[in-house]
Amino acid sequence: METLEDFRVRARSWLAEADPPKVPLDLDSRFAVLRRWQRTLAEAGWLGLAWSPDAGGGGLTHAHQLVFVEELVRARAPQPIGLIGLEVVGPSIDRYGTESQRRELLPRLLSGEDIWCQGFSEPDAGSDLASLRTRAVADGDSYVVTGQKIWTSWAHEAQWCALLVRTDPSVRKQAGISYLLVDMTSPGITVRPIRQMTGDREFCEVFLDEVRVPRPNLLGAENEGWPIATHTLGSERGGATLRRRVELEVALEDAVEALRGRDDLGDRARAAIGRAHVAMRVLDAQTRQTTDRLLADTGPTPLDSVDKLVLNDVEQTVFAEIAGLLGPLRALPGSRPTGLHSERWAHDHLYSRAASIYGGSAQVQRTIVAERLLGLPRG
Ligand SMILES: Cc1cc2nc3c(=O)[nH]c(=O)nc-3n(C[C@H](O)[C@H](O)[C@H](O)COP(=O)(O)OP(=O)(O)OC[C@H]3O[C@@H](n4cnc5c(N)ncnc54)[C@H](O)[C@@H]3O)c2cc1C
Repeated sequence: METLEDFRVRARSWLAEADPPKVPLDLDSRFAVLRRWQRTLAEAGWLGLAWSPDAGGGGLTHAHQLVFVEELVRARAPQPIGLIGLEVVGPSIDRYGTESQRRELLPRLLSGEDIWCQGFSEPDAGSDLASLRTRAVADGDSYVVTGQKIWTSWAHEAQWCALLVRTDPSVRKQAGISYLLVDMTSPGITVRPIRQMTGDREFCEVFLDEVRVPRPNLLGAENEGWPIATHTLGSERGGATLRRRVELEVALEDAVEALRGRDDLGDRARAAIGRAHVAMRVLDAQTRQTTDRLLADTGPTPLDSVDKLVLNDVEQTVFAEIAGLLGPLRALPGSRPTGLHSERWAHDHLYSRAASIYGGSAQVQRTIVAERLLGLPRG
């Protein structure tokens, strides 16, 4: 197997030649550009590096995937559009899927031909996900699904949805849940986008009205969807943290570079950069353990919640400090342009507020740490 050093050199030189696209702010254009970029990355074999070759993966290791993500970010190249498929849902299909599910679904997921969304949250089942009420009733060779999902990112663009449903309402709530892979073009699905405070319509309400889902689209066994959902959420909390760390580091480096040499910064601005820098060092230290766990393939652990909490704080600190700098600097009489793209920073600052909600809110992560890591009494 190619050593990590050789792999890094190969990735770096490919990226130097690849001419990565600039990312438009407008959501529709962004989606189209990043989908094409995903195809380019997949065709060159850079996605799903740790997945099995029969599913279109690279048959390498998580370490190779991490190295590629790091090089991609360091080259100031954007991420592909299908991150929910690549980082969140795909690893669960690779791990729990039947051979035909993996062969049919994963190559198209990798290339971006199929965009995936994650239909977990419902209006009354977010933090308390196991209370979900969307019903699936077996009928012949299908399940008939009725219910509602909410906050489903990219549902309006998705071809497929990883959907949690209740197949047995008579047992303990975690025990009656199944995990379906649903074709979003199925009759009975209505998708209604929701506007976020960034102005984008990135997530949606999804209504399901007697949607027929073929039985072979069940992932794992009936009523055994909860451990798979936990695996999916673990991938979202753990693996994605490592990518975000490098992205934040590069964002901060760019901000510092843009401000270097300015003698009109003032003590408050210097202190802001200092606070953001210290926050980044904390995230560095935390994610060293994450890398070790990912490489050892430990599966979901309460430590994923620590990662998520640290990442939330650091992400919000870094963007808030830099966004805070933009206003005063531009307001100074005769001030020179900062070199920072204020629209992009303003967008990222607003989006950073979501970090302590998606993938499980900060309050809920703290409860997991208190109860499952520290063994404190349940509230
Ligand atoms: C940008 C974004 C993208 C998202 N994308 C998706 C997606 O693609 N698919 C998907 O399924 N979901 C998605 N979500 C939904 C997300 O997972 C939920 O918002 C999250 O789990 C919280 O659930 P909720 O919104 O129902 O809030 P609630 O669970 O109603 O919580 C409301 C508040 O009460 C607090 N709270 C709730 N229970 C407790 C408790 N036991 N102890 C202490 N405090 C508590 C919460 O921390 C929160 O502050 C997304 C959310 C965001 C912001």
